[in-house]
Amino acid sequence: MTTIQKLIEHLSTYPKDAVVAYALWGADDVIQRASERGLLCSKEQAEEIIDRVDRKQDASLGISWATLDCYIDEANLQPLKTVNDYLYCETCEEFVDLWKYGSVADAGHEGCKTRPVTEEELKNCIQDCIEDGCFEEE
Ligand SMILES: [Zn+2]
Repeated sequence: MTTIQKLIEHLSTYPKDAVVAYALWGADDVIQRASERGLLCSKEQAEEIIDRVDRKQDASLGISWATLDCYIDEANLQPLKTVNDYLYCETCEEFVDLWKYGSVADAGHEGCKTRPVTEEELKNCIQDCIEDGCFEEE
């Protein structure tokens, strides 16, 4: 794996005034991208992904967000949320992001008739959270 330490050693072989083009991608970028896509990614998984990106990089394409997406897809990460993280409130006729509140009462639906979301509805709930940027502050 390429580490910052190895990179520093490598860079020290260049003249200090050499002009270069520079971009640095790290495990944090993978974790951020995965969460924006509603996927759960551990530090270890992110390190494995960034290592693959590094070893397999194509100089004519470079590394981009699209590159990270390809490797994130290959990694088969689990969704950040499950059906237990959302509810459908039949009384209010709306979906509830239960994970933000912790309880039905805190979500403001105490006494409402609620039901769990289906797998299909879960995908839409996660998609809405992705579009609203809900996972980015986590
Ligand atoms: Zn309600």
